[in-house]
Amino acid sequence: MGERALVVRLISLFMLALVFGSVEASLGDIDPRYRTCVKECQTTGIIGESIISHCQNKENDTSVGGSWYNQEQVYMQWKQLSCMTDCRYFCMMQREGERQSLGLTPVKYHGKWPFLRISVFQEPLSAALSAMNLLMHFTGWLSFFLLVKYKLPLRPQTKRTYYEYTSLWHIYAILSMNAWFWSSIFHTRDIDLTEKLDYSSAVALLGYSLILSLLRAFTPILAFVTTHILYLNFYELDYGWNMKVCVAMAVVQLLTWAIWAGALAMLLELYDFPPYMGYADAHSLWHASTVPLTYLWWSFIKDDAEFRTSTLIKKAK
Ligand SMILES: [Zn+2]
Repeated sequence: MGERALVVRLISLFMLALVFGSVEASLGDIDPRYRTCVKECQTTGIIGESIISHCQNKENDTSVGGSWYNQEQVYMQWKQLSCMTDCRYFCMMQREGERQSLGLTPVKYHGKWPFLRISVFQEPLSAALSAMNLLMHFTGWLSFFLLVKYKLPLRPQTKRTYYEYTSLWHIYAILSMNAWFWSSIFHTRDIDLTEKLDYSSAVALLGYSLILSLLRAFTPILAFVTTHILYLNFYELDYGWNMKVCVAMAVVQLLTWAIWAGALAMLLELYDFPPYMGYADAHSLWHASTVPLTYLWWSFIKDDAEFRTSTLIKKAK
């Protein structure tokens, strides 16, 4: 290991620090006036005319839930956390008000845009849309379940569905509903735990969907490629036709990658803008776009189940 390896290591460390560091420090929370506001709020529990109850009565609270040691600790931690998030929110709103009166545009705080709260909901629009997505997946899954279980014929011996992907789609539905559940929780209360749960379930769902789409496409593509090769070798070496097939496969592949890249770009929020009216930002629009797509997606899955069932029945006869 020479100097070069060390330099590479240092650079990669620096890049990592850049990526992870940028999550915590944003333009808004670097501002010293915001920082002193949060510090003052956390010690006194007073900000302007409002009182943050979570930051007060610290001495009185030490006796709460004394019977069980852990319970007290959890309660104190929760109180501290609520005090911090409330102070951050009110200081952010105060600073944003000041900035607006000076004609300045909104800035991010701790990696997030300033959102207006509705009662306990930190990002009400994204939370509501996540719940909508959850509902759409539930109804889509339910109608898929009713279709394959009761409307379409079952295999006479095993009483199972003709459609081979039934249980894989059930798992998909559960993973989707899980991901949207944690998404709505995360947009309601953004803390370390809810963020991790949201991101992990989203990645689990995306990974599973990728595997499932490859599995579903694998057999038809394999069958097509084999027939095509056999056709070229044993029937007719048609250069024009072969060129068309090759171009078509290349285009489909490019499109698939492009769609993936597009979806990723949206997920990573490359098109980022401050929330309109304090509620609608790029992320919430992304959650809105998936609501109708979910409906279309489940009707595609149902069509696939019907199509496969009818071809398999025809084959069996
Ligand atoms: Zn989200």
